[in-house]
Amino acid sequence: MNFKGHIIGGCISGTAITAVKLLSDGSLDFSSFPQEAALIFGITVFFSIFPDLDTESIPQRWFYRTVFLLLLYLGYKKHYGLATLLAIVAITPRTDHHRGWTHHYFSSVLIPLFLAGFYEYVLAKNQSHDWPFYCMYEHFIDRLWLVIACIIGWNTHLLLDSQLFLFKNNKRYRP
Ligand SMILES: [Zn+2]
Repeated sequence: MNFKGHIIGGCISGTAITAVKLLSDGSLDFSSFPQEAALIFGITVFFSIFPDLDTESIPQRWFYRTVFLLLLYLGYKKHYGLATLLAIVAITPRTDHHRGWTHHYFSSVLIPLFLAGFYEYVLAKNQSHDWPFYCMYEHFIDRLWLVIACIIGWNTHLLLDSQLFLFKNNKRYRP
């Protein structure tokens, strides 16, 4: 599957998970589109292309240019925790060959859970030295939808890479 196909797939699953989130909140009012819903949609689409950042391509180049600018911005704003998380996420696809661990189903669940847990633990530890695990759990549950969006987006990619149908014959791009 090529990037175009993955982005389309990501938009479809992103719309679905965002609608489920809004329904679970008891509202489907898109006129006042909440920031969190936009974040859920964006994360789903991002993780639907994330596994293929392990291979040389034009989207990959643009991705790392964007990450570079975001890291500068986060550093300038002193959001060091988020900058570290972004840097870790950004380099992970480059730690293996194409279609390595990024294309395994267990990675799509374990990596988001581990990184979110680690991030929340560090945040909680910096805020309260008494019960970091309790704080971490509370924050983790608060942001669970973001983790679910990562997992759904990533699995959308893996499902489409199983070569079901569309965009299969793009010779310029090897999924
Ligand atoms: Zn792929």
